[in-house]
Amino acid sequence: MKTSVQFGIIANSKTRVRCIFCKVYIPKANKCIEQHINGSKHKENFELMTENGISFNTDILYCKPCKSYLPDNHSISEHIEGAAHANWVAAMDDLVDGEFIRLNAYLSSDTENVFCEVCKKNIHCTLQNIEEHVNSLNHRSHIVEKLKPINGIFRVNNEDEVWCKVCDEYIDSHVLNILEHIDEDDHHMEWFMEIEDLMEGQDMSIVNYLANEFEKFAYCNKCKVEIICNAQSIEQHVNSESHLNQFS
Ligand SMILES: [Zn+2]
Ligand SMILES: [Zn+2]
Ligand SMILES: [Zn+2]
Ligand SMILES: [Zn+2]
Ligand SMILES: [Zn+2]
Repeated sequence: MKTSVQFGIIANSKTRVRCIFCKVYIPKANKCIEQHINGSKHKENFELMTENGISFNTDILYCKPCKSYLPDNHSISEHIEGAAHANWVAAMDDLVDGEFIRLNAYLSSDTENVFCEVCKKNIHCTLQNIEEHVNSLNHRSHIVEKLKPINGIFRVNNEDEVWCKVCDEYIDSHVLNILEHIDEDDHHMEWFMEIEDLMEGQDMSIVNYLANEFEKFAYCNKCKVEIICNAQSIEQHVNSESHLNQFS
């Protein structure tokens, strides 16, 4: 009988095999092994591995983020909940949040790089490298270009300024200034909160309104009508009989 390394099952003795994901011994019979591999505990461990950058090398588990082998008496969940690993994950999640950096691909494969979608660039994945990258002006300007069309921000003839359609306001075109407007300007944020709140679950879209300078309307996909894009009109529309009828 073959033992399948692919599933973390390795030969142990004449009568049993071992699952290195689950740290358990299994009778050496196809039926028992199959049952184990299809069991929820095994699947859960395998999922934890792919979510956490843990792979296996013949008979030992290796954690890529921690750059360390897991001691044989350590379960996968023990390792993940341990301080070193948990701190890495928390710090990394914090760094890549909203930065268009694909961490999952790094964690679930054997690459040493993460891919930055906005810079179209691979970065060798260490906390320090990622921190440097996300704070670089180059990355921040790519982020701004990505955020402009979903925030209603447009270039104007004067290069020193951009125009925020949502706030009808000219703002300094420096990258950090635009990001500050998007993330911290009260009026800007409140507009989005109010509109998104009204549109939630209503199958309406303001994508075109935000991306096209001259578009005046939000669009209701249910009623196939355009609605002036402001809180008052949208509120009227979502409460109108014709709109509500589309949902009944
Ligand atoms: Zn297992
Ligand atoms: Zn780890
Ligand atoms: Zn980048
Ligand atoms: Zn604004
Ligand atoms: Zn409608």
